[in-house]
Amino acid sequence: YAAKRGRLRYVRYEAGLDTHTTADLTLVSELRRAIDNGELVLHYQPKAVMRDGTICGVEALVRWQHPRRGLLAPGEFVPAAERSGLIEPLTSRVLGMAVEQCARWLAADRRLPVSVNVGAQCLHNRTFPGQVRQVLAEQDVPADMLTLEITESAIIIDPVRAGEVLQELEEIGVRLSIDDFGTGYSSIAYLRSLRVHEMKLDRAFVTDMCSDYGNSAIVRALLDLARNFELQVVAEGVEDRRTWVVLAALGCDLVQGYYLSKPLPPDELDDWLGQDRAHRVGHSAPSRRRA
Ligand code: C2E
Ligand code: MG
Ligand code: MG
Ligand code: MG
Repeated sequence: YAAKRGRLRYVRYEAGLDTHTTADLTLVSELRRAIDNGELVLHYQPKAVMRDGTICGVEALVRWQHPRRGLLAPGEFVPAAERSGLIEPLTSRVLGMAVEQCARWLAADRRLPVSVNVGAQCLHNRTFPGQVRQVLAEQDVPADMLTLEITESAIIIDPVRAGEVLQELEEIGVRLSIDDFGTGYSSIAYLRSLRVHEMKLDRAFVTDMCSDYGNSAIVRALLDLARNFELQVVAEGVEDRRTWVVLAALGCDLVQGYYLSKPLPPDELDDWLGQDRAHRVGHSAPSRRRA
């Protein structure tokens, strides 16, 4: 009986594995097609100056308008893209769309710098800086309108190679930002050798910092570090006024989070920017006084 049960379990396990692999293969082949067919769309989440609520840029966040499954969040397909090598065509596509949108805004007299998330493989590909240069030239967008968000975990795969690619990107004049700062394992000394301009505090520390002493201690330490390296700091995941007030008092520069706005399709963002935001900002951007 035991042998029989074991066998059954074995069969079921195999079947489970198969299903998983098939689903992954389907996803990857569909994604390959989706990239070429223009099924990827970008939503843009505004970033504001903490002190006064001025909008100072947007982060482009990819979504997949899947023909059957609806709008998919990046968590549902970016990891598979990273594993299958599709992250490079995906990033090229996203970069192209984001820079094109930035050019459209510039043409409408709106100076809205865009940030693009760059996957690990791109940072190890020597042809990537050339692509960036070309996209900017084609759309006639100044390099300093583009920020590339990179993660510590992407850099540590091959720090020497990544360092060379980052150096070339810096020479182009794009801005570099360390995303999800504090969640990776790169050494402070190494980070210092990269000439990055900005660091983004991960929302895992930010969102509940007002109720979690440990997270608030981490945020204060990272803000201190950033100040010493003269890096601009963006707090992500700010969901309420209180967190905004506390971060502003701690000297954090920029804010991104649901309290300001969720990521929006470009037309909705245009409406949002066009509205008289005076009361909204007046309401959400606190003075340095504690409430
Ligand atoms: P990320 O770059 O750290 O982006 C921030 C994520 O936090 C976004 O989720 C955003 O919607 C979410 N967020 C912003 N404010 C708040 C808030 O106040 N509360 C909460 N709970 N969440 C907030 P999203 O769009 O689902 O993106 C998730 C991740 O997927 C991104 O994290 C990034 O790592 C990756 N990703 C998104 N777009 C791209 C892309 O074009 N290329 C690559 N390689 N990765 C991307
Ligand atoms: Mg990001
Ligand atoms: Mg982030
Ligand atoms: Mg994050």
